[in-house]
Amino acid sequence: MRVIDTIVIHQSDSAFGNAAVIDEWHRERGWSGIGYHWVILNGRIHASAADAARDAGTATPPFRTPRGPSGSGGCSGAAKAAKDVRPECDGMIQEGRPPECVGAHVRGHNGTSLGICLIGIGDGLPVGEGYITHAQWRALVGLCRELMKRYGVQVERVLGHREFPGVAKTCPGFAVAELRKALATDGM
Ligand SMILES: [Zn+2]
Repeated sequence: MRVIDTIVIHQSDSAFGNAAVIDEWHRERGWSGIGYHWVILNGRIHASAADAARDAGTATPPFRTPRGPSGSGGCSGAAKAAKDVRPECDGMIQEGRPPECVGAHVRGHNGTSLGICLIGIGDGLPVGEGYITHAQWRALVGLCRELMKRYGVQVERVLGHREFPGVAKTCPGFAVAELRKALATDGM
């Protein structure tokens, strides 16, 4: 078994997705498949017209898109976004690369780390307000606790991708110090 001393938290930088979708994205980059060991879903699996509009910088996040009165027909984007929401997948943990295999998620530190990716986008948004849902947060805390116990990882070594030197991207978009605080607290 390889020695693990670090857990690295990422954000997919997408409003939707799952392990299979990310696997496809990473293969498109020429990698040998998904670079993360776990993915925590937010309940939205596929892209929608709302995502495309958001990428163009014009839309509010789909979770906040007000639904038109039923029978109005609505706009196709909102209807499609609604269809793509899978509440039963919110907070679901999926396996990516097996933990015994070295990941591809944090330059220079893949050898001794595990990578967890939350589906989500945005920066500086409180949990539950942006794309990181409360269910994802609970799943993340639980998974980190389990992995810390299994591999003997110290809470100071649960790090956000952005906390590594030389990383310019805002990954993940929430304060990982808050996660460490939660992990340092007793109880479940
Ligand atoms: Zn990252």
